[in-house]
Amino acid sequence: MTSTPSDPSSTTTTRPIAHEQFARAQQVIPGGVNSPVRAFGSVGGTPPIIASAAGALLRDVDGHEYVDLVGSWGPMILGHANPRVVEAVREAAGRGLSFGAPQPGEVELVDEVVRRIAPVEQLRLVNSGTEATMSAIRLARGATGRDVIVKFAGCYHGHVDSLLAEAGSGMATFSLPGSAGVTAGAARDTVVLPYGDRVAVRELFAERGGEIAAVITEAAPANMGVVPPPVEDGVGFNRFLAETAHAAGALLISDEVLTGFRASRAGQYGLDGEGWTPDLMTFGKVIGGGLPVGAFGGRRDLMQQLAPLGPVYQAGTLSGNPLATAAGLATLDGLDAAAYTAIDRASRTLREAVSQALTAEGVPHVVQSTGTLFSVFFREQPVRTYEHAKDQDTDAFGRFFHALLEQGVHLPPSAFEAWFVSTAHTDDVLDRIMQALPQAARAAARG
Ligand SMILES: *Cc1c(COP(=O)(O)O)cnc(C)c1O
Repeated sequence: MTSTPSDPSSTTTTRPIAHEQFARAQQVIPGGVNSPVRAFGSVGGTPPIIASAAGALLRDVDGHEYVDLVGSWGPMILGHANPRVVEAVREAAGRGLSFGAPQPGEVELVDEVVRRIAPVEQLRLVNSGTEATMSAIRLARGATGRDVIVKFAGCYHGHVDSLLAEAGSGMATFSLPGSAGVTAGAARDTVVLPYGDRVAVRELFAERGGEIAAVITEAAPANMGVVPPPVEDGVGFNRFLAETAHAAGALLISDEVLTGFRASRAGQYGLDGEGWTPDLMTFGKVIGGGLPVGAFGGRRDLMQQLAPLGPVYQAGTLSGNPLATAAGLATLDGLDAAAYTAIDRASRTLREAVSQALTAEGVPHVVQSTGTLFSVFFREQPVRTYEHAKDQDTDAFGRFFHALLEQGVHLPPSAFEAWFVSTAHTDDVLDRIMQALPQAARAAARG
């Protein structure tokens, strides 16, 4: 078999150390990875193993350099090893790694979130986005005394049992409808509806409104690719959900784990949060600046249902960890107006360049965005639902992906993920991507 630059099998020769280390990892770590999409399952080949990163660049153990468009799936919005963030973590580490007692960084980080995001009156810190959504739905059920949770196909809310139905992200990448190991009981109280389908939402509430604890939605779906919430007759989908839920005494949980502090300064809520409020919101990714942090918050009366004040139990040995709050706070501090202007500019430049390169080779594609967040679908028509997202040319994406990787551009290894830019994606970095795009577009076209 001959190796071409875009042939995944060429990784044996171009990345011999990664190849050997990944084989070793597969012996002792399931699939060689600690989170499924990292394994390159849908694009083939062996992932580079990253030795270090700085700014917009990654360096692998074989000595190759890549322009990074994964950004640890969102958190590295100020670039890798940002000196201010690293220094904040270093200082915090010198004062002790964890106390299991209140520490000053917790309230500083939470204050910053409360300042940015109006519906958040109180916030609790956890260690991942999954923990945030899991705790938010427990709180919603505890506060309403109801069981049913409504979610949308293609929305990912972490690997919480009851939220793993038609869940986007890695579930989309590997074409899984749900997960083994989730009991019928856990799944029974989850109703999955097509994203954006107001008729289906109205019908469900007409029939079962009194049983519904909460609707949970990604503020803008971004785990099946980016799908901006649709506006009908001037009413955005999130506002519609808030009004429909509230009319039935149910809550709206807006999951901003991915969009928070990224789509805009105040996340997706900052883009469409006029005249409505979610009851609870969840955060992760950017809020930890690369350390393990999640958070959930919202209405004070709801948040005060949590232990130690109320009957809903929720806890964490390492929650509010001083290194994590230092990284999160330094990251949010760095995200001033100039930072968002820079990210927005990089995002626009890249969106246009990708579209131009693919158009030049006649590759069907759609670029969709909300604020600074965007993704590229390899199909003709816009994507509004999970069914649309699944109906794309993932083989063309795979060829495009590998052609970029071989030229030193590190894209998310799945057609269902957003592309992540940072303040470190300056013009010279973007130029390197642009130079690699024509060849990648030709690879995508060859099919
Ligand atoms: C990533 C993500 C999660 C899960 O966060 P983890 O930190 O990976 O557990 C939840 N919701 C959304 C919208 C996400 O993008």
